[in-house]
Amino acid sequence: MTAPILTSTLLVPTAVSSTVTTAVSRVTVLAYLVAAILFILALSGLSKHETAQRGNTFGAIGMTLALVATITLALTSDPERGVWVTALLIALAMIIGGTIGVTLARRVEMTGMPQLIAMLHSFVGLAAVLVGYNSFIAPDATAEALDGFHLGEVFLGVFIGAVTFTGSIIAFLKLSGKIKGAPVTLPGRNLINLVALVASIALMVWFIMAPEHSAGAWIALVAMTVIALALGLHLVAAIGGGDMPVVVSMLNSYSGWAAAAAGFMLNNDLLIITGALVGSSGAYLSYIMCQAMNRSFVSVILGGFGTDTSSASTGDETDQGEVREVSAEAVAAMLDGANRVVITPGYGMAVAQAQYPVADLTQKLRDRGVEVQFGIHPVAGRLPGHMNVLLAEAKVPYDIVLEMDEINDDFPDVDVVLVIGANDTVNPAAEEPGSPIAGMPVLKVWDAHQVVVFKRSMATGYAGVQNPLFFKDNTSMLFGDAKASVEAIIKDL
Ligand code: NDP
Repeated sequence: MTAPILTSTLLVPTAVSSTVTTAVSRVTVLAYLVAAILFILALSGLSKHETAQRGNTFGAIGMTLALVATITLALTSDPERGVWVTALLIALAMIIGGTIGVTLARRVEMTGMPQLIAMLHSFVGLAAVLVGYNSFIAPDATAEALDGFHLGEVFLGVFIGAVTFTGSIIAFLKLSGKIKGAPVTLPGRNLINLVALVASIALMVWFIMAPEHSAGAWIALVAMTVIALALGLHLVAAIGGGDMPVVVSMLNSYSGWAAAAAGFMLNNDLLIITGALVGSSGAYLSYIMCQAMNRSFVSVILGGFGTDTSSASTGDETDQGEVREVSAEAVAAMLDGANRVVITPGYGMAVAQAQYPVADLTQKLRDRGVEVQFGIHPVAGRLPGHMNVLLAEAKVPYDIVLEMDEINDDFPDVDVVLVIGANDTVNPAAEEPGSPIAGMPVLKVWDAHQVVVFKRSMATGYAGVQNPLFFKDNTSMLFGDAKASVEAIIKDL
């Protein structure tokens, strides 16, 4: 007896009239438009240090507006189910999602950001797959009217989502060191990708032509899903260690296109716009990073990236000579006599959390009249902009933080370069043909009068390539944790 009573109670607010529904849907369209503009302002704000915080605020306001509008629309658009049931379902989804999000965000270290982002991309991919299947099983009225076009949306949405899902999981496993970062190259790798693509196109034709919900349509959809899952896995598995930054931003782009596809299926304009913004900005970022690493954009999309020159290779075994070790005290003396100092940070600064003492050292040197600047390589760290975020966090003035291209020609005029936890991004081997990182533009720190490298051992960097910089005559090694080393120098200054 309780069920009908409960149902009828839940259905009371179905009094939501069609006039209200129409009014809400009109206001929603307007809210979506404002949210889309706020997202564009957010992206443009995030492109510069000075405006990043403002950009972030625009993004947060836009997202709040989008959520409120979407929830209101959902509450009023399906009177048959009842407002309270819808509200309960949305609240449940938000509590589960919010709890996972807050827990992950609180736990993650700055050094673990790339793998977290890869993981989050995989959720977007999975969501697109689920939305696709749902939209195929239970299309709404608009979708039904679109017929073949809607089936095409479903197919593409599931395809992009599935590739993003498994690709992101592999990226997560590689970046978090749970599986080896080296590229896995199967024989005929490109042919396998091509066959998977052609087979998926053929299955799409079959899927659209087959009678709706027939066994044929189901077979085509499920077969393509399996192929796309395998393709995502294969594409990212084939990409090697040092080339992962581009993969992270490519997957970011794929997740945007997956979201846009979901937007088409759900007939949600804001999701289409947001997905397209993420998709295109991710693609553009990948393009810029490819240029920064002197790689071809097309080969990244095809997933063959970095394998021909075997990024998997480890340290060079040839004898490079002796390295010169130096003490913190000697580095303090070196800095004391310098006019111009450049700091080139890398992943090790993030690991050591050395940005605060580094900011402190910078201030002390500037107070003594020494010109201090930072040289930031586009892929220093494990995430685009990783170093900029850390330095901003430690309140290093923006105007002394320069991009690689802005400072690379100045090194001959620099007295001392402090290489703090960077390795691949300052590796002169990149200038030698045949090196696994050949062609990657690097910070030419060795042109400076003196170079001090802060690291804990002689281990290689992310790309696994030995660094001839350590053996140069004007290079000294300050072994130890970067934070402790910088603090020791401050003490000795
Ligand atoms: P690398 O990974 O090449 O080198 C980091 C260096 O830091 C190592 O030499 C390590 O040496 C040292 N280090 C680690 N921990 C500490 C510590 N606590 N104190 C002092 N030193 C430490 O870093 P780079 O920033 O130069 O290069 C980034 C690499 O990562 C590139 O190959 C890039 O392609 C790749 N990558 C970049 C991404 C991005 O988007 N930016 C994403 C994914 C990968 P030791 O162990 O001896 O201390």
